[in-house]
Amino acid sequence: MNYYSKHITNLIDELKRLPGIGGKSAQRLAFHIINMPEEHVEHLADTLVTARKNIRYCKICCTLTDEEVCPICSSDRRDHSTIMVVEQTKDLAAYEKTGQYYGVYHVLQGSLVPSLGKGPDDIRFRELEERVQKGDIKEVILATNSSLDGEATAMYITKKLKPYGLKLSRIASGVPIGGELEYIDEVTLSRALDGRIEL
Ligand code: ZN
Repeated sequence: MNYYSKHITNLIDELKRLPGIGGKSAQRLAFHIINMPEEHVEHLADTLVTARKNIRYCKICCTLTDEEVCPICSSDRRDHSTIMVVEQTKDLAAYEKTGQYYGVYHVLQGSLVPSLGKGPDDIRFRELEERVQKGDIKEVILATNSSLDGEATAMYITKKLKPYGLKLSRIASGVPIGGELEYIDEVTLSRALDGRIEL
């Protein structure tokens, strides 16, 4: 039986498709939106569409950005010979917040997920290898999450980049097993970076 109007049901269904939003949250959000002043709803809808249209992947590091090349890749104050490899743009943001890292990044936009058959072609690894092939890279720091998938990803990248003869390192423990970078405090992240282990 349908308790709600078709429009409310559609709205709840759309919201339910977002990650981390279950039925109850979707319902709560839907009613919140319906009770918002119409111009706020229009502004929200507009912001969503504009963000989706204008945000793209940096053509160097693959992070999400407004420009063709992101501010970090285009900065001459960064050390472009050190690349920190992270899974998501939010991980890059976590490291930027520490203010302790002066290199550049490479954002894989995911990780290998062997259990689901998600392989190297499903992440931005090829772009990383191309950067390394171009030369001038002295160190690649693997800062993927310490989950099973993050570890598998770090191992794969190590194997593939080893032949290029550059320094490869993995951020140190201090990042708890299974830990997601975005939830870890800045001091722990800085220590993990300082204590990175050469592979
Ligand atoms: Zn970039």
